[in-house]
Amino acid sequence: MDFKQAFRQLFLFTFFIVLLTNTLPTTSQEVDDEEEFNYDLDGEKGPAKWGEIHHEWSACSNGSMQSPIDLLNQRVQIVSHLGRLNRSYKPSNATLRNRGHDMMLKWEGDAGRIHINGTDYALKQCHWHSPSEHTINGRRFDLEGHMVHESSEGKVAVVGIMYKIGRPDSFLSSILDRLQEINGTEEKETIAGIIDPRQIKIGSRKYYRYIGSLTVPPCTENVVWTIVRKVRTVTRQQVRLLRVAVHDESDSNARPTQAINGRPVELYRPKDEEDN
Ligand SMILES: [Zn+2]
Repeated sequence: MDFKQAFRQLFLFTFFIVLLTNTLPTTSQEVDDEEEFNYDLDGEKGPAKWGEIHHEWSACSNGSMQSPIDLLNQRVQIVSHLGRLNRSYKPSNATLRNRGHDMMLKWEGDAGRIHINGTDYALKQCHWHSPSEHTINGRRFDLEGHMVHESSEGKVAVVGIMYKIGRPDSFLSSILDRLQEINGTEEKETIAGIIDPRQIKIGSRKYYRYIGSLTVPPCTENVVWTIVRKVRTVTRQQVRLLRVAVHDESDSNARPTQAINGRPVELYRPKDEEDN
């Protein structure tokens, strides 16, 4: 093989690898394109139709362990074996992005991790839905934050935090300027600087745990869900700022609750704690 031939083979090989890595589906990734789906309940691109828009989104229609769900008291099993949430976050550079269907804060560097059942899941991004996607005994709250984590093997764990209208949330207050900045312009993305995820308060040791899915296409299943039991507070203005991102007429970016299909839902409560 002469030099020219070797070069040509190397070129073809490289081309093939690039092609391969760019076409493989990244199933744990949430879809970013706002044009592709929306929350219009009766619309062509609404939640009931998500599974028909792309073949890769079929789990949205055919899945048997979809999210969100109603966390109904009678269905929940109170346990203590899950243990306290094992979070070790750290400050890292982040960007704030308007995805059209929501606002997303994405950490570019290592923002730490959460440890669940022997697996480490690195914190990737957080975003917000309003009203809340999960409900508790049928009650929907004003806002739900999702902290999305991913393991080295691509498994996803999401921590959900619910909010009702009341006193301001200190973390949202701290990124207020950035939120206003991105709302006032055509810019889709802005540098948020160093953001400390430890400032996203939970305020309770109790949480629900069940296995579900991403709540946006491709609705990938086997997502480990943790929903903090305590409902926190936000102001109307804070909810409004996060909501500007939603462009469709439904004025909501909450997927309707999905069938439980016999899935167990656990509520972790420390042994030494009887209430709250
Ligand atoms: Zn979400």
